[in-house]
Amino acid sequence: MPKLHLITYGCQMNEYDSERVAGLLKHARYELTESPEAADLILLNTCSIRERAEEKVFSQLGSLRRLKSANPDLLIGVMGCMAQLQQGRIQERAPFVDLVFGSPAIARVGELVARARAERRPVIETGEGPLVKIATPPDGTRRLKAFVTIMEGCEKHCTFCVVPTTRGRERSHPPESVLEEIRGLAARGCREVTLLGQTVNAYGRDLTPPTDLADLLERVNAIAGIERIRFTTSNPYNLNRRLMRAIREVPKVVEYLHLPLQSGSDRILERMNRGYTRARYLELIAEIEETVPDIALSTDLIVGFPGETDEDFQQTVDLVERLRYDNVFAFRYSRRPGTPAAEMPDQVPDAIKASRNTRLLTVATRVAAERSRALEGRVLPILADGLSRKNAREATGRTRCNRVVNFDPEGQDLFGEVVPVLITQALPHSLRGALAGREAVLQAAGMQPG
Ligand code: SF4
Repeated sequence: MPKLHLITYGCQMNEYDSERVAGLLKHARYELTESPEAADLILLNTCSIRERAEEKVFSQLGSLRRLKSANPDLLIGVMGCMAQLQQGRIQERAPFVDLVFGSPAIARVGELVARARAERRPVIETGEGPLVKIATPPDGTRRLKAFVTIMEGCEKHCTFCVVPTTRGRERSHPPESVLEEIRGLAARGCREVTLLGQTVNAYGRDLTPPTDLADLLERVNAIAGIERIRFTTSNPYNLNRRLMRAIREVPKVVEYLHLPLQSGSDRILERMNRGYTRARYLELIAEIEETVPDIALSTDLIVGFPGETDEDFQQTVDLVERLRYDNVFAFRYSRRPGTPAAEMPDQVPDAIKASRNTRLLTVATRVAAERSRALEGRVLPILADGLSRKNAREATGRTRCNRVVNFDPEGQDLFGEVVPVLITQALPHSLRGALAGREAVLQAAGMQPG
């Protein structure tokens, strides 16, 4: 059997695409290998979000070139965002690459690989293709958690972002195809799904008849075997009360919302073309906290966007303090060629970005630790998903708010079970807990054991 080695960079969408590619190529009899030396086909699934990500790919291609010299039958392909955006540069800097294709062509990967092998000249496929739901799982092993793409593309045009160029316009997969994929996953033992889209809460408005994420969540909730439903990434512009109510009322939807803020300053938000103000974002958070009092929040922030002053930055820090995020993903702004922000004046020097980033992470870490400590003494349902990395005798799992909890399984194999765990200690990156008996559950609920 020919061997496939896959290298994935970037976001969850890319992880998901790589899984699908592995599944599709399995039908073409390709077997996954961990070793690039043993491979007949090497695919790099690339990311264009930051310049550094692209440089990593070129340097990786440089090392793969040596393998290709030793084995001229080896096929090397580049897929994903960078393939879509930089096909010219890839051909120029790495002319030995046999195959370049963007996300829309993933469904045809088997045919493209066969063509590259037969024609022995580079195959380039980066146009927009029909939207195809690829539900082919990568292997037969039981997977407790899975990502499911429910929409592709984005039409928001934030001035720092390449996604609208690399992934095209917003297109939703019909609910039936999403539900069929999740039913298949549940039948193979999956307990938790994360519905993916660049602006996932804009789901369904392009379909005929139109639908929305709240409706889809209810339908996924009805699938037996699935215990938890997550979704990401939501855009503040599209967040509405209907979705907030769905988070509260649809039982399997977890109380967790990732809502990118990007900046706490109106001036910067406007330059980013985010479509909301600081006041509107605060209003949304107040509404969600009122609707779902136990909600855990996380966010993305960009540090050092062009024109960001110390005062703008301080407004971002203030919001992190005020909103008490469970998790903050902070990124230093990096210029993406072809985006409006790359041409803006007042680019912030790297040293200032670095020091602001450190200041922001210090506050974010403190706030997250306080949130963790607030969980001590509570009994939480934990989806056990394996063994602790540090101690193989301990089980590990996640809360509904996505925190890692390590606990003694008391000799039981709990993989895939949802179990009550008393949180005993908040550590910097995880929680410690103990399996909770009936008494602890009642105590946590404020009731006397009877
Ligand atoms: S909403 Fe997200 S994916 Fe869309 S343009 Fe803005 S940052 Fe990029």
